[in-house]
Amino acid sequence: MDPPPLGSQPSRGHRPPVVPTDLALFTNGSFPVYFSRTPCAMNRIQYQYQYYSMAVLFLQCLVVPATFNPASAEEQAPRTYPMQALAPTVATILNVPVPKQAEAPPIEAIVNDLQGSKKVAVLGIDAFGDAIWAQTRDRTPYLNGLAQPNNRARLRSVLPSVTCVNFACMITGGSQTTTGIETFDSKLACEDLFSVLRAQGLKSGGFGIKDWTGDRLLGRYADLSVRDKANDEEVLAGLMEIVEEEKPEFIIVQYGETDAVFHRHGPSSDEARAACGRADAWLARVVPWLRSRGYAIIITADHGQHDVQNESGETSGQHGSDSDIDCLVPLVWLRSGD
Ligand SMILES: [Zn+2]
Repeated sequence: MDPPPLGSQPSRGHRPPVVPTDLALFTNGSFPVYFSRTPCAMNRIQYQYQYYSMAVLFLQCLVVPATFNPASAEEQAPRTYPMQALAPTVATILNVPVPKQAEAPPIEAIVNDLQGSKKVAVLGIDAFGDAIWAQTRDRTPYLNGLAQPNNRARLRSVLPSVTCVNFACMITGGSQTTTGIETFDSKLACEDLFSVLRAQGLKSGGFGIKDWTGDRLLGRYADLSVRDKANDEEVLAGLMEIVEEEKPEFIIVQYGETDAVFHRHGPSSDEARAACGRADAWLARVVPWLRSRGYAIIITADHGQHDVQNESGETSGQHGSDSDIDCLVPLVWLRSGD
């Protein structure tokens, strides 16, 4: 878009024209402001200069957000907290004691934002690492819209960066040496958030697909769970029934399809991108539904995943290492809708 024509003056481009002697020039930031030295100087050329200044201001309004967007600066380096901080954060929001062996303090930014919430839901998108989200932003419009610089950070998975170890951490605040969790059937060796809530007269739910961590570990220790659900859709339907009936103060969900697809095709594959789109659509359904029922929301993941190539050149996905791509996961939080 060009500035408006300035009468008979030659080339203007975006350069400010020469200021006539009866006009004074001020610079406000970087755009020129002209005013008249004499009350009678409101002639055609001054009018044209004012018009020009307004046009420059208008153009800056279009250009500045793209070049100096603080959100993109924030996006380069969101704060990273240890996975062990999640359980203490939830306990503090719900005003119950932090599980005894928790290895990190609560995350102050989340506690401040969600303070006073009577219910909290943790939504764990399995294997949805921060690097994978960065590559699939065009498939996650809903999550992109939720995540702003002031309600977004990252968690660092505990090692090994696998599902049962990290969901165990989310409900205890402990790393593997503290929780003793090696498989989803292991016995927890420390206090968990579900039992802390139970002691305070509060209810909890743990949800996942049949024979996944959400079922075998979270479902085993929580008060409420679903049974024999074949996929994430069935889990969600069961969860909705339980939440409507029992109104648990804390729920934690493992959304599973992402991990399965990333393993099969690699997290950089088209199939993985499509799976991220389905996870985003799932969030777009469950988040408003829970918020309208009084739940504050914490969206995160247990770990990331990286591409590996086999000898025949086929790509699949793996995780478990201490690399950033396996260990850094998104963290987004929202108050309830009440
Ligand atoms: Zn996996």
